[in-house]
Amino acid sequence: MTQKTSKECYIVVGAGQAGAVAVSSLRESGFGGRILLVGDEPHLPYERPPLSKEVLLTPATAKPTIFDSAFYSSQNIECRFGIPATHIDIHTHMLELASGEQIHFDKLLLATGARARPYPLLDALGKDALQLRSMKDAQALAKRIQPGARILVVGGGVIGLEVAASARTLGAEVTLLERGDRLMARAAPVHLAQALLELHRDQGVRCVFDVDLVKADHAANGSVQLHSQNGEVFVGDLVVYGIGVHLNVELAQASGLKVEDGILIDEYGMTSAPGIYAAGDVARQWQPQLGRYIRQETWSNAQNQAQSVVRSMLTGLPCDPDLPWYWTDQYGSNIQVAGSIEVDEWVTRGNRPDRYTQFGLRDGCVVGAITFNNGKEMRPAKQLISVAAELSNPELLLDPKQDLRKLVVQSALAA
Ligand code: FAD
Ligand code: NAD
Repeated sequence: MTQKTSKECYIVVGAGQAGAVAVSSLRESGFGGRILLVGDEPHLPYERPPLSKEVLLTPATAKPTIFDSAFYSSQNIECRFGIPATHIDIHTHMLELASGEQIHFDKLLLATGARARPYPLLDALGKDALQLRSMKDAQALAKRIQPGARILVVGGGVIGLEVAASARTLGAEVTLLERGDRLMARAAPVHLAQALLELHRDQGVRCVFDVDLVKADHAANGSVQLHSQNGEVFVGDLVVYGIGVHLNVELAQASGLKVEDGILIDEYGMTSAPGIYAAGDVARQWQPQLGRYIRQETWSNAQNQAQSVVRSMLTGLPCDPDLPWYWTDQYGSNIQVAGSIEVDEWVTRGNRPDRYTQFGLRDGCVVGAITFNNGKEMRPAKQLISVAAELSNPELLLDPKQDLRKLVVQSALAA
């Protein structure tokens, strides 16, 4: 697109998925003013999904970088990497960086994401307690996962399960300790959590539930010991924990922006201060159709919300609602979840336990979908969710011999 010359300056703070996509979208949409991307990590922006998968499994060939350095110079995007932003004056529109640099902006987008929630009880183990959020974390973990290494994974969410799968695939012994009574309570329905549990148990992972850790120390021989409240002791060579995230909201909060489980943004992506926007993991957006705020911790939300908010910054149009969607890869199985997981019932299309599609129904309408090694059906399933298709002809929809894409195109079901 041809660029309109502008004297305006737009700044994006946070150089992760949402930040990198935002600056590229600004240029792609024709913004011809000054663009600055500020990130506190020293690297070029990279994608996080490979960190628990390829970077652990095949570190030599993993390539998580989003755009190479030539991209930023060719697009005339100024970068400040390795430098945190420290203060925003929301009235005078001045941004201050840790380097002391002060920059005036016309509009600013906060894409500061999240960090791994710390677990001080385990951090006291020093180098034997690892977490996974950044490239640095993944590289450190990759070095410690060796065949035969005894790894204690704490937390049965997506991080815990993906680390367990990668570590097991590499020949480590894995024990997974979850505080709750099931896996993936935040992001997956009970039956999918059960399928994942079986997958991990089949692969030799020991999963233990209702574990409340009270002490962590080293034995005389150097092994790590985790003591649970009921007296059980789990022994390993290292601990990897994934117990959720802590949002990077401090900058927004200290600058006077409204923050409630994320930086609050309206349907235009704007925060409580005019000209200041937010996107990605850190943003909780008002959804007029639902009448509530929604925050998502997914790659696709970081990608799509950043694009959508940039469009609003440039045009003043409201953001498009984005259908929740994430995937996870474990032991070569690809699992995708879209839409809502709060449903009346799940119905299954396909009769193989290792390959199927499921639709989540609420009041007889499709509001959610799961594909298990059946990613090719996710796009048509999302189309059904987006129109809340009524399951008026279940024989047809649930017959795996019928091509779901054709059924949706024929729109007999999506009417
Ligand atoms: P982030 O990626 O957290 O980026 C924010 C950036 O801002 C960071 O670099 C941070 O250091 C920086 N920052 C913070 N404060 C400041 C400041 N004051 N100044 C400057 N910079 C600052 N999602 C999926 O859908 N599928 C997957 O398979 C998947 N796998 C994942 C695997 C791992 C290991 C992890 C950690 C996440 C995974 N996710 C996955 C989630 C997905 O990666 C995140 O939702 C996404 O990265 C969020 O992007 P973001 O840009 O909003 O935030
Ligand atoms: P999570 O919220 O998915 O899961 C945290 C798990 O830890 C929960 O099961 C919780 O019950 C458990 N837990 C909490 N405190 C505990 C304790 N003291 N002892 C034992 N268990 C405890 O968070 P996560 O797995 O840490 O993931 C962090 C972030 O990374 C999320 O934003 C997630 O979306 C993202 N991520 C996504 C993917 C994906 O979508 N494929 C993969 C990896 C990471």
